[in-house]
Amino acid sequence: MKYLIIGGVAGGATTAARLRRLDEHCTIILFERGPHISYANCGLPYYIGGVITDRDNLLIQTPSSFGTRFNVDVRTHSEVISINPTAKSVTVKNSLSEKTYVESYDKLVLSPGAEPIKPALPGINLEGIFTLRNVTDTDTIKRYIEEHTPQHAVVVGAGFIGLEMAENLHKAGLKVTLVEMAEQVMTPLDYSMAALVHQHLKTKQVEFYLKSGVASFSRPKDRLVVTMNSSKTITTDMVILSIGVRPDSHLAKEAGLAIGETGGIVVNDFLQTSDPAIYALGDAIEFANPVMGQKMISYLAGPANKQGRILADNLVRGNVKRYKGSINTAIAKVFDLTVASTGLSGKLLQRLNVPHIDSTIHASSHAGYYPGAQPMTLKISFAPGDGKLLGAQIVGFDGVDKRIDLLSTAIQAGKTVHELADIEHAYAPPYASAKDPVNIAGMVAENILDGTTRIISWREVIESHGKGLFLLDIRTRDEFMLGSIEGAVNIPLDELRAHMDELPKDIKMVVFC
Ligand code: FAD
Repeated sequence: MKYLIIGGVAGGATTAARLRRLDEHCTIILFERGPHISYANCGLPYYIGGVITDRDNLLIQTPSSFGTRFNVDVRTHSEVISINPTAKSVTVKNSLSEKTYVESYDKLVLSPGAEPIKPALPGINLEGIFTLRNVTDTDTIKRYIEEHTPQHAVVVGAGFIGLEMAENLHKAGLKVTLVEMAEQVMTPLDYSMAALVHQHLKTKQVEFYLKSGVASFSRPKDRLVVTMNSSKTITTDMVILSIGVRPDSHLAKEAGLAIGETGGIVVNDFLQTSDPAIYALGDAIEFANPVMGQKMISYLAGPANKQGRILADNLVRGNVKRYKGSINTAIAKVFDLTVASTGLSGKLLQRLNVPHIDSTIHASSHAGYYPGAQPMTLKISFAPGDGKLLGAQIVGFDGVDKRIDLLSTAIQAGKTVHELADIEHAYAPPYASAKDPVNIAGMVAENILDGTTRIISWREVIESHGKGLFLLDIRTRDEFMLGSIEGAVNIPLDELRAHMDELPKDIKMVVFC
């Protein structure tokens, strides 16, 4: 059996390794357009920031070590420029020799990944403007910083990678300005959760412009000028474009394979494309989200790696393993914060017209009496009837990762908020509380579902503000002095019982802390 694989990083290299483990005698040829395979994309921003100091640590395998260990014919600098599904062959161009040749296959695997979006804005190709996808891009950015010692950078696009770059450029000693088209950073999050990130960025002196698109770039003298749609300009030394990515599915499209509405390659549960001899995985495919069923693309390393194993099993053993889909569980470090999400956000559920309830709690990373406990904000979205968990988001400092993983597992298992309240977790004061934040989120949601607690969202408070709401802030006097909602009355929780007769009985009261 002869397997050809296009793309030699997360999905492609995993598939090749598993194929060899399952079949010692097959022929495996791995084509990679760039000079490197199996590198750590996710570590690239940290190498630029100097957190990862040794470049070799990014290169998990070299073409030669991978080729030797797995007996795979690794061909770097080799771009597959077309696929001929009828002849079962691909045409390859070697960028060093400029030669093209045809290679035949029994089965073909596509793992070409995603490409950064680079809109056709005036000046977008000027010197000092970069995108970050691979080791070569990283080397270029690192070299530019070393040679030009820039003092200031603009990061366009405040998604997970944009924010990682902002943090790492800041670490490398640059002042950073973020420019984001949306009203918030990290658009997979709900606005209320992103607002915590906004606050944190301010404490780090990272300047950011929201609801601000870039109109053009220019270089009148020796510095770049970024002009926004509002006509405001920012003068800077370098720009990182982190506007987003799209599936690199053009080869598949040109070969006549089915492409979905998202632009991703259509695959079945076995990761097989519309041509039975061609399989695909990773950032280039679309797949039904297991929570609501709509087609999505997961631009994440975890799903690509797991799909590689499933796909190789299906190639060698016949279609034996079904891919169940990704619920987009993601996490990022943003300076001192950890920001994570899984499943569907309240915003997305709203857009999809799915009835849901959102609930937010504030908890501690571990028992408050043990030193070092840190605050954590946890938001869940769940179905109003049976309380099925649909999504979760957490912003905090410590222990965010294990909670989001617990919530992700619960969503994947179709659990309800009632089951969240009961989840058994490991507890000792340095690690958690006897009732973990995940349990508390479940308990609060139960209270909402059975009517014990009625909730109001911040949007409703704003809409009803000044229209007869009694706003009761039950925090301590010191906390109240630091700022509250305009017009709120402060009665600290511990004094509330003694002041019950001061509370109005005839208007809607909103209690908050
Ligand atoms: P890739 O790993 O991108 O591999 C695709 C490869 O195919 C590329 O090397 C490309 O050169 C090659 N290729 C494309 N077309 C051809 C062709 N025609 N011929 C030959 N070769 C071709 N995900 C996370 O989950 N967590 C993170 O923290 C995280 N951080 C990231 C940080 C950065 C800077 C980047 C860029 C990505 C990050 N990701 C992260 C995303 C993650 O890296 C991807 O989801 C994952 O690598 C996708 O795997 P893939 O195999 O589909 O594509």
